[in-house]
Formats: sequence, structure tokens, C-alpha cells
Amino acid sequence: MAVNARSRRQRVSYDTRIFLLALLVGAPALILLALLLFAGDFSPAFVFTMLAVAVVGWLVLANLLRNEVVYHLRTLSNLLEALRMGDYSMRGRREARNDALGEVVWEVNQLGDAMRDQRLEVREVSALLRKVMSEIDIALFTFDGQHVLRLVNPAGERLLGLPAAELIGEPAVALGLEDLLDAGERRVVKREFGPRAGRWERRVLRFREGGLPHYLLVITDLSKALREEERSAWQRLIRVIGHEINNSLAPIKSMAGTLEDTVGRDPLPPDWREDVGHGLGVIASRADALARLMSAYAMLARLPAPRRRPVDLARLADRVANLEPRVAVRTQGDPFSAELDPDQLEQLLINLVKNAADATGPEGAVTLRWSRAAEEVVIEVEDDGPGIANPDNLFVPFFTTKPGGTGVGLVLCRQIAEAHGGQLTLKNRADQSGCLARLTVPERA
Ligand code: ADP
Repeated sequence: MAVNARSRRQRVSYDTRIFLLALLVGAPALILLALLLFAGDFSPAFVFTMLAVAVVGWLVLANLLRNEVVYHLRTLSNLLEALRMGDYSMRGRREARNDALGEVVWEVNQLGDAMRDQRLEVREVSALLRKVMSEIDIALFTFDGQHVLRLVNPAGERLLGLPAAELIGEPAVALGLEDLLDAGERRVVKREFGPRAGRWERRVLRFREGGLPHYLLVITDLSKALREEERSAWQRLIRVIGHEINNSLAPIKSMAGTLEDTVGRDPLPPDWREDVGHGLGVIASRADALARLMSAYAMLARLPAPRRRPVDLARLADRVANLEPRVAVRTQGDPFSAELDPDQLEQLLINLVKNAADATGPEGAVTLRWSRAAEEVVIEVEDDGPGIANPDNLFVPFFTTKPGGTGVGLVLCRQIAEAHGGQLTLKNRADQSGCLARLTVPERA
């Protein structure tokens, strides 16, 4: 029943219904008028004339009401259609907040404004995205669920050596990208793209468009960055080695000149033995410094795998503390032994204590302490120097803030820590100025 009533109502158009309703509203008055006219003492001609005028007026007014309602609805419908077609310039007049129709018009106008702003925003964002995609030196490819290429940026065109028009619509297999598409995190791959061979980082991101899965394949050329990194590492290495060699060779050369001068004098000066002895001492110490520098580089380049054996930490700590002549190093910890490579660990601690002594000067307080927790050995070297000025660069090879520094010590320490499956961190002390170096390594392999 309800369905029938609804379908009947749907068959009669809305404007006809308004018209009929308007007729219905006027019908009682018309009937009343007819009754009064027939009941009164009027001539039939008068009665029919009056009735004809009333019926015509009734129909005209009902039609007016229908037109009024329909006109506004049509206007609203035109406005909404314009919005649907993307024309936001049309606006409804008669917007008013205190009037039912005015309120609807106001809302439609607001909707238009909001849609215009949104479209502007979307346009700006997509213009920016297009610009970024075309300017960026990273190859971007978008594939649909069937692995067919849908979008490619200029870097992608350059990588594959073909224009976008020839690439779009091709399956990933035909483009030689299928193996790179298997979804997953980042991966570094070695491969050739035409004449360009090298190392590439590939990332695949999944996204949905129109409810369907799509893939964004990002391919970045790592070779250039790696080469630049390598070159700058070489430059730093050469700068530091050059500096160190000059630092040692200059005093050796000048001392050799002085000695030559001394032994060439006739008669020999009375204290010539002393001068020669002192000069040879300087030459020997500079040669030692050079040898130490070279052995540090050699060790950094070819650090062997740790050979673990039981190490008595208290004894090792005492030995390291005694090796540092400049400051009195306090040692703190219970005696116990752990399975570590004693030579590498000693080298690591010597470097940390040396850095601490460099930072504090002779009056400084340096503490070397060790402990054991959850099958891990924790060794700390604490000083009361000025602390770390540049924490980001500490482990950068050849980074040093010291005039005679090599910038190798901490890199070597970290290599040793990581070779033992542990880690080394350096941070400024929270309680006062100074640095706290903490080594954490598993007690055994
Ligand atoms: P080097 O001692 O030859 O400079 P390192 O790799 O051992 O090389 O140290 C690198 C840099 O780290 C040092 O030049 C110094 O600036 C900083 N550093 C290391 N240890 C400390 C410390 N205990 N206090 C302050 N700065 C430190």
C-alpha cells in the first residue's frame, strides 16, 4: 500500500501537486460562494458570471502559487547544477538568514564558496606536486594494480631513456621494472639502466586511487652521493695526513739542519753532545708520532674480528689508567671477567682516556668505571672538561677539534664496540660540565 501510494505520488509531478494543493485550499471558499449565490435571490446570469469569475480567479491564483514555488526550486536547481559543472561564479540572490528560502540560498552560496576554495587549493597543491615531480632528480613511477605504468616524471623518462608518451600504458615487465615492484621497504640494488650503471635505492609505496591499489616506485641514484662522500672522505684523509706529516717533517728538517750546523762547526761547541742528543730525541719523537698515526689508520682500515677471551676488567682498567701520564685516572668497579678481545678493548679504553685527558688538562678528574648488568658489560669514562662542542661530528672519520688530532680515535672505538656487538655513545654530563663516554658490550659472544 505504502509503496503504491509513493509510486502514485511520484507519477504526479511536484509542481502539479502544488497546483492541486492550491486548488484544494481555495475549494471550500468557492463551494461556499456557490452555495451562497444559489441560495440568494440572484438572477442565474449573475450567479454564473460570478461563479465563472471566481473559478478563473481560483485557477489563476493557484497557478501563481505553483509558479512561485517552482520558480525558486528551479533557480536552486540551476545553481546546484552550475556547482556540479564547476561554475562557482553563479550566486543565488535573496540570501537571508531569517527566511526559510533565503537560508537555503545562503547555504547554497556558502557551499559554492567552499567548493571554489577547495578547488583552488587542490589546483595549487597539484600544480606544486607537478612542479616538484618534474624538478626532482629522483625517478618516480606510478603503477596500477595490474602493474601498468600510469605516471612517470622527467627523471623517470631520463632513467629509461624514453619519453612519457611511449612509457605510459606499458606493463612493468616490458619496462624492466617488475623485479623492483615487489612491495616492501627500502632496498639498495645494483643494476644498469641503459648506459647508467650503479647503486640505486628503490622504495615502493602502496596507495589507493578510486578504491584500487596503486604503487609508487621511487628510484634514487646513490652512486653520485656515494662518490661525493668517498671523495670528501679522501680529501679529509689527505688533508689530515698531509697536516700530520708536515707537522712531523718540519721539526725533523729544521732539527737536521741545526745538527748539521752544529757538527760542521770547528771546533765543536762544548755542549755539542747535548745538542745532538736533544735534536735526535726530537727527531725520534716526531718519527714515533708519525708511526702512531700510520698504525691508527692501518688499524681503522683493517680491524680484525675480535678474538674473545676472558679479560679481568679491574686489571685492564688499572693498566689503561697507568698508561695515561697526564692525569690521575680513578678506577671504580668490582673485579670480574668478561669474554672480550683484550687488545681491542685496551685500545678503545686508551683512546677514551686519552680524549678525556686532552679535554681536562693536568688538573682534571677522569674516572674509569665498569659494571655488569643483564649479561652486558658497561664501561664508562667520565671527565670534567668542557664537554662535547659538536656531538653530530664525533664519529665522522677525521673530524677533530685538536691541533694535533687525527679524528680517528672515536671511529676506531665505535668500530671495536660494534665488532663486539655493542655500542659506544658520548654525551655531555648532566650534573656538571664534562663528557661521559659509555661502552655497552655483551659479556660473551
Ligand atoms: P682526536 O682525539 O684525534 O681529535 P677522536 O676521534 O678521538 O679524534 O675525537 C674526535 C673529536 O671528538 C675530538 O677532536 C673532540 O672534539 C671530541 N671529543 C672526543 N672526546 C671528547 C671529550 N672527552 N670531551 C670533549 N670532546 C671530545
